[in-house]
Amino acid sequence: MHIGLPKEIKVKENRVALTPGGVATLVRRGHSVTVERGAGVGSGIQDTEYEAVGARMGSAAEAWAAEMVVKVKEPIASEYGFLRDDLLLFTYLHLAADRPLTEALMQSGTTGVAYETVQLEDGSLPLLTPMSEVAGRLSVQAGAYHLQKPVGGRGVLLGGVPGVQAGHVVILGGGVVGTNAAKMAMGLGAKVTILDVSHRRLAYLDDVFFGKLTTMMSSEANIRTLLPETDLLIGGVLIPGAKAPHLITRDMLPLMQEGSVIVDVAVDQGGCVETIHATTHDDPTYVIDGVVHYGVANMPGAVPRTSTFALTNATFPYVLMLADQGLNALKTNKALRLGLNTHQGKLTYAGVGEAFEMSV
Ligand code: NAD
Repeated sequence: MHIGLPKEIKVKENRVALTPGGVATLVRRGHSVTVERGAGVGSGIQDTEYEAVGARMGSAAEAWAAEMVVKVKEPIASEYGFLRDDLLLFTYLHLAADRPLTEALMQSGTTGVAYETVQLEDGSLPLLTPMSEVAGRLSVQAGAYHLQKPVGGRGVLLGGVPGVQAGHVVILGGGVVGTNAAKMAMGLGAKVTILDVSHRRLAYLDDVFFGKLTTMMSSEANIRTLLPETDLLIGGVLIPGAKAPHLITRDMLPLMQEGSVIVDVAVDQGGCVETIHATTHDDPTYVIDGVVHYGVANMPGAVPRTSTFALTNATFPYVLMLADQGLNALKTNKALRLGLNTHQGKLTYAGVGEAFEMSV
């Protein structure tokens, strides 16, 4: 199969959808790969690295002319002209939030397979997990930095020092984001409390961390008790397919100390803190009632090199299946079949149909 790798052109998107290692495997298996010049530069990958493993370097139009195009972000309006009915597009699409793109894919007849809806039998979303791992780990780094006095924080060092108590990190949600945040916070020497509504999840966390963190059932009463002694609060709650619940309401903010920090990773689903709104890496924080709020909606964008390798580790087995088997891969692999969002002018994913009241 001929595979195209365009450069991401969405503002501040520095990831790329295939590494030279991935291209090498595809070429070895008899596929051809056209890489747009400069596609990897944002992730520290030079054109020469792709060329060395057999890629053909070309323009955006040449990469998009391939049978299958592999990307990171959804096509933006200036890319709609590349969509066509014999194109297989494999990327994050997030169609439920993007009517113009949904219509462009349908009108062009493009077969769109979305990373975010590829789903394993246990309900997990393997192509979202790596970005939650990155965001969870980054949340502690961002929080630790913003706790420093010169940038508006309380002036607390999360690890403390001998003779001075460590900072307290409270994590809402013990899923992928929460677990990775806990690992980083404990690594820094902070005191960590993690709350979830799933007793099974709390038992698992208690087991894997040998009781070195505190687990608590997530309830308003427990959260209210913890807030006065929380230095860094991390939001990592997810209710699949729904907006995040507001576990911290505006009236609870005065319970927190001045200069304490909230990093709400769930901001992309509306946030689990009522006062959070989406911010950018250029201007990541704002203050309400003395509490620093960090709401960057694309946290992995801060570390594109790590994110590129983490994402492609997860996507590549599916890229290979699609390259080897074409659309047949959607029949043989159930998880991949769930990724199919549009095909031959039709919507094929129920969640998107519901969002736009379109038939599927
Ligand atoms: P996950 O499904 O692995 O974990 C979510 C956890 O929340 C589950 O353990 C669930 O039991 C728990 N939960 C549900 N209701 C709760 C409640 N009321 N109180 C406490 N816990 C509750 O999800 P994840 O992969 O960890 O993702 C978490 C959030 O982070 C999602 O909204 C995701 O979209 C977001 N995210 C954001 C970024 C970013 O850049 N901002 C990046 C990656 C992921």
